[in-house]
Amino acid sequence: MPNFANNPDRTSWLHVDKNSDFPIQNIPFGVFLTRDDIITIGTRIGDTAIDLGALHQLGYFEGIPLTEDIFLQDTLNDFIADGRQTWRAVRNRIADVFDANNNTLKNNAAHKEAVLFRLDEIEMQLPVLIGDYTDFYASKEHATNVGIMFRGPENALMPNWLHMPVGYHGRSSTIIPSGIPVHRPQGQTLPHGAETPVFGPSKLVDFELEMAFITTDANEIGEPIPIEEAEDYIFGLVLFNDWSARDIQKWEYVPLGPFLGKNFASSISPWIVTLDALEPFRTKGPEQNPKPLPYLQSSGNNSFDINLEVAIQPNQSKETVVSRSNFKYMYWNMAQQLTHHAVNGCRINAGDMMGSGTISGPDPSAYGSMLELSWRGEKTVTLNNNQSRKFIEDYDTVIMRGHCEKKGTRIGFGEVRSQLLPVFEILKKNTNLRSQTD
Ligand code: MN
Repeated sequence: MPNFANNPDRTSWLHVDKNSDFPIQNIPFGVFLTRDDIITIGTRIGDTAIDLGALHQLGYFEGIPLTEDIFLQDTLNDFIADGRQTWRAVRNRIADVFDANNNTLKNNAAHKEAVLFRLDEIEMQLPVLIGDYTDFYASKEHATNVGIMFRGPENALMPNWLHMPVGYHGRSSTIIPSGIPVHRPQGQTLPHGAETPVFGPSKLVDFELEMAFITTDANEIGEPIPIEEAEDYIFGLVLFNDWSARDIQKWEYVPLGPFLGKNFASSISPWIVTLDALEPFRTKGPEQNPKPLPYLQSSGNNSFDINLEVAIQPNQSKETVVSRSNFKYMYWNMAQQLTHHAVNGCRINAGDMMGSGTISGPDPSAYGSMLELSWRGEKTVTLNNNQSRKFIEDYDTVIMRGHCEKKGTRIGFGEVRSQLLPVFEILKKNTNLRSQTD
């Protein structure tokens, strides 16, 4: 089915600012709570949210084989499971309904009242019930930088790194949407020079600038995914802040890899931008030397040119952009990651999420974590309010943004924004609870 929705010449009868991440060519998918407290699946054009449940009930998806309640759900999982032909048909229809030359909905005030919302009337939710979550480690610059810091320059890249997209299984239970604050985690750390660990709040809380892709049902257990087919199973992408506690991570990670230093929170942007919408922004990835094994060899442009940035906003202060990177710096692309993930027969389901790993570029201004920007705390990062940071401090807000731009068309992800709060004070809370019941 042709991808009409990407036509760069199309304009919408809905207002779209010139620098909007959400022109009619984007048509992302998300889940939101409406002003009437109803949860629905929706999309967004400019700063208008569109209730797809209402649009479907009013008959605007006639002719597309969709179940009646496909958009009246609190997650996108069933829609994602419907597969690429359905996603494409729905995006094409939305593009048509909101095309500047189509008056059907435009001239129907009652329908518009039921379907359209201002952004301040809705509350974005987690768009997917995430089944399994895997995080890769696919930026060569990031892996090299961290390797130098943790093991020295001789052993920076482990011997396997140039031969496979290295990853680990994380936890989906603590993946949260933009806007939800995160508490500083506590845990075990080994203070510098000490021989025994201490317990307490992490002193080195960090962000990781990542993107994550969401899959549809891809295979049966035992069945690998050929690399030429891998992208067919990718629904879309979000921005992904993989919050990390570096001191906890450093003490715990040998030999089984990340654990409590990572699974206290990861924040995602709420609108899933489809792989279809990103089609015009394909680009060649980095040269892979040595050549990967045959099952990981892909032809064509499997990387995507997505500009990324990270800003830190201290409490009651303006933000400072501390990193500018790009998704195209990833050494291992998404098709290679998904193919490698399933090559042993691991089952991939609709609603699984795969993090890219921290996306650092070659220039220090493109490093995707404070660990690298402050080089393990040896340097300071200056903010524009004359404060400085080595890691993230309590009440700082971390904001990540991403967009593609080509020949006047801009497709973006909006932002993922989350504030770091102090350690969750369970003792204090219990004391309060007790005094209330006394
Ligand atoms: Mn990560």
